[in-house]
Amino acid sequence: MVVGDVTTGTDVLVIGAGPAGYVAAIRAGQLDLDITLVERDAYGGTCLNYGCIPSKALITATDIAHEAATAEEMGIHADPAIDLAGMMDWKDGVVDQLTGGVEKLCKANQVNLLEGTAHFVDENTVRVSHSGDGQGSESLEFEHAVIATGSRPIEIPNFEYGGEPVLDSKQALALESVPDSLVVVGAGYIGMELASVFAKLGTDVTVLEMLDSILPGYDADLKRPVKQRANDLGIDFEFGYTASEWHDRDGADGIRVVAEPAEQAAADGGSAETVEDERLELDAEKVLVAVGRQPVSDTLDLAEAGIETNDRGFIDTDSHARTNVDHIFAAGDVAGEPMLAHKGSAEGKVAAEVIAGEPAALDHQAMPAAVFTDPEIGTVGMTESEADEAGFEPVTGQFPFRASGRALTTGDADGFVKIVADDEDGYVLGASIVGPEASELIAELALAIELGATLEDVASTVHTHPTLSEAVMEAAENALGHAIHTLNR
Ligand SMILES: Cc1cc2nc3c(=O)[nH]c(=O)nc-3n(C[C@H](O)[C@H](O)[C@H](O)COP(=O)(O)OP(=O)(O)OC[C@H]3O[C@@H](n4cnc5c(N)ncnc54)[C@H](O)[C@@H]3O)c2cc1C
Repeated sequence: MVVGDVTTGTDVLVIGAGPAGYVAAIRAGQLDLDITLVERDAYGGTCLNYGCIPSKALITATDIAHEAATAEEMGIHADPAIDLAGMMDWKDGVVDQLTGGVEKLCKANQVNLLEGTAHFVDENTVRVSHSGDGQGSESLEFEHAVIATGSRPIEIPNFEYGGEPVLDSKQALALESVPDSLVVVGAGYIGMELASVFAKLGTDVTVLEMLDSILPGYDADLKRPVKQRANDLGIDFEFGYTASEWHDRDGADGIRVVAEPAEQAAADGGSAETVEDERLELDAEKVLVAVGRQPVSDTLDLAEAGIETNDRGFIDTDSHARTNVDHIFAAGDVAGEPMLAHKGSAEGKVAAEVIAGEPAALDHQAMPAAVFTDPEIGTVGMTESEADEAGFEPVTGQFPFRASGRALTTGDADGFVKIVADDEDGYVLGASIVGPEASELIAELALAIELGATLEDVASTVHTHPTLSEAVMEAAENALGHAIHTLNR
């Protein structure tokens, strides 16, 4: 301890005010625990400030512009002018409203807010350094801690972040001008969402992906409409390539991004030395690197508290969000995949409730995921092949949006709802949706799994007409062999 230093104490210390940390703190406050929430940057974390919310705001804004510009079939002829500064102001306003709300909610729930960067000193103490010259630091003792420090974008060699023209997602969401051309490295969900934002703003976009398709981990039938729509938007794809370096273009504006065949790059350990004629060279104004995210666990001195991480740097937890140290919990991106905001919030609530002595536990079976591409994807539970591997006899039902009255009235009828159930007892095991509002529709099927609903339950629930949600009912009916608005197999 520093001489003259004051050490304060708290029952529950939460490190990080993203959707895992602030939710844990508010829930702990509701349970009358004495709680301190330490944040070094901005309330709401990545999600509210640099991730989910700003990206969805820009997706919506660019969708509106794109839909207006392509609605001739509906008798609408428009050529919307995009004022990027105005769009960014609106997006920033949404972010400010939400982050301000988080701060107010924390205070209203008696959460002590402490600005600064925490690191462990021992298993009951952290040191919090305050930012700014001469701001100093203080020690904080705790009975329980929740680590919710999130994640940061992975850097690739020769594409260090830190200024244009190499952008990470945070910088891409705050650009002051629309680039004429953009190379997006990585066709995961962040790369694909931002590729379509920029394509709709009028940027020439090329997506470079080392694998052979977009959205690794998603079934081919879900990806197909997304890839088709991306092609329609004019997005180019280069699969099987790894970005190896970039350089200025002699005497010309912009940069040249060099990529190597993925296998060659792997064999070279990522070096730029490769067979000349297999190299790919892409000219662009900027390059956005979106190759995944890694946990923020290396700056916390976890070893001082005896907390272990796995070989990818994630802090492993049990179903009570507990780390290998009994009184220390971890929630959100730092605690592993899936790195999604709602998964972090769910873990944060469990951690707070367990600390308060409640019998809470997290069940990942009904954990939904959404990709806000055009069209959207929503998934929950098991795919057909996962159900098969798990020993079930899966039965599936499908309903195409082109047979949905409501989808046709929105002018967006690509995609389908697919439901997977156990043939023996009809329990819903999983679902996947690609199409309009898939991110919203998937919630009904998450609830079905959570409640142990059967295909009969979903099929016999009367759904409002005309709505997209009728497609969920019809997919369940199709699995039972009696959908009305599609042919049953
Ligand atoms: C572009 C983009 C789009 C996304 N879209 C979606 C989406 O649509 N849906 C979805 O579910 N997820 C989305 N995500 C992922 C989502 O943002 C994360 O899963 C979520 O933010 C994780 O929450 P968290 O609380 O674990 O961490 P974070 O939100 O990263 O918050 C961690 C906080 O901890 C703070 N911190 C770190 N170290 C310290 C320390 N030592 N001391 C004090 N404070 C510290 C950080 O400053 C940060 O505020 C998106 C991410 C990105 C980048």
